[in-house]
Amino acid sequence: MIKFILKGHDLPHEVQTIVQVFYPNRHYYETDEISNETFTVISILENGISGAELYDCGEFLGRYTESYEESEILNIKEKKRKIKTAIFKLLTDITGYTPVWGILTGIRPAKTINDLIDEGMTGEEALEFLCDKYFVSREKAELSLKVALEERKILKSDNKKDVSIYIGIPFCPTRCLYCSFTSYPLFQYKDKVDLYLDALIKEIKFVKDYALKYNVKNIYIGGGTPTSLNEQQLDRLLTAVDENFDVKNTLEYTVEAGRPDTITEEKLIIMKKHNVSRISINPQTMNQKTLDLIGRRHSVEDIKDVFYKARKAGHDNINMDIILGLPEEKAEDVAHTMEEIMKLSPENVTVHTLAVKRASRLKEQFDLYTLTSLEEMEKMLSVSYNYAEKMGLKPYYMYRQKNMVGSFENVGYCKEGTEGVYNVEIMEENQTIFACGAGATTKTVDKNTGRIERIFNVKSVDDYISRIDEMLERKKEGLKEF
Ligand code: SF4
Repeated sequence: MIKFILKGHDLPHEVQTIVQVFYPNRHYYETDEISNETFTVISILENGISGAELYDCGEFLGRYTESYEESEILNIKEKKRKIKTAIFKLLTDITGYTPVWGILTGIRPAKTINDLIDEGMTGEEALEFLCDKYFVSREKAELSLKVALEERKILKSDNKKDVSIYIGIPFCPTRCLYCSFTSYPLFQYKDKVDLYLDALIKEIKFVKDYALKYNVKNIYIGGGTPTSLNEQQLDRLLTAVDENFDVKNTLEYTVEAGRPDTITEEKLIIMKKHNVSRISINPQTMNQKTLDLIGRRHSVEDIKDVFYKARKAGHDNINMDIILGLPEEKAEDVAHTMEEIMKLSPENVTVHTLAVKRASRLKEQFDLYTLTSLEEMEKMLSVSYNYAEKMGLKPYYMYRQKNMVGSFENVGYCKEGTEGVYNVEIMEENQTIFACGAGATTKTVDKNTGRIERIFNVKSVDDYISRIDEMLERKKEGLKEF
């Protein structure tokens, strides 16, 4: 638990988010008095002083202050920056830890750059601003600028009438050790898959009427693992997509094939036949010992085999996901993974950093293993970045993990012209997404006002099957004015 006291301002959120960078996954409370039981942070912004103090069980640990012109009327942005800066300086000094993302606490650093560019700065000026005023390391600021410029290009090409369709298949062959998604093990749910598809196709047909009024730019089938459907089921689903949406005129049609142990030659051919333009084959690591450890029941050779089969079937835009910080892995293991991936030369590589929240159930399982240190994770990120560069891939989308020490970034890299457009659209909340399936969230974006509304489907597969009509009613109501 961390307590904090505000003096001269009323911006508790700013205090909490920057304290969280140093002390994540605690409970944070605003208070009036210094606590005798835990840490207390005092945040000050008054009388020309911005500052911070830290106490541990009542014992004074340190103070940071800087002055500003009292006559200066600070705008809200500047107030927030001063509050965060004081706490950042104090906690950096006391903990000896300098977060590479400085006081930038949002999950979309590229957005900060784009906002600065929109306010009139050049890219270079925005980069300097991030380094000087937000204390972001040069390396991360440069990465943010590259991503920001790529995102700008993608978002600029958006038409007001563009929408995306998301379809969720929440089944997986087994559950991965680190999984935090809605995923149902196939061996338990085998008998429900056809019923699930019945309900899903009903929802797809329902969405058709709305989609007809718009231009379906992207279709994304995700999960779970969509290829955990058998050949006949996959064909049935993709046929339903064909019948209800203008697939041939979409810019991007992705199936997150995902786990190599679910992908067969026939499924790859089925996807091609239905004009799927982008697939994911996600190894996560190319180290066999790690694959065994995380509960993947396939070999490194299987991954390569599936990749070559996909090429043979004509898939010319393949993404591969990897995860940094898997149990027992070091930067050398990531280098090996990237080396192996480089030989395959996929169009996209998406690099995730493993998020293991200290208080989570996941963490209990991970207690058997050593968690990756901050320094090692930084090394891994550099290794992946350097390899991506060597492979001729550019970073085009990025978001940061929330509430984690380091709040490391996940980065999408791609060959020129093969950007995963849907990824950017969903991250920037720039486009309406009609979502179908258990746990899926439809998001409507009013392009004139920027207003975003969400319509949620139930998460459980059983509820989704039995309450599909209620889901459709919910959608109808939510899309009334759409
Ligand atoms: S493949 Fe993905 S969704 Fe399925 S269990 Fe593993 S992490 Fe979870």
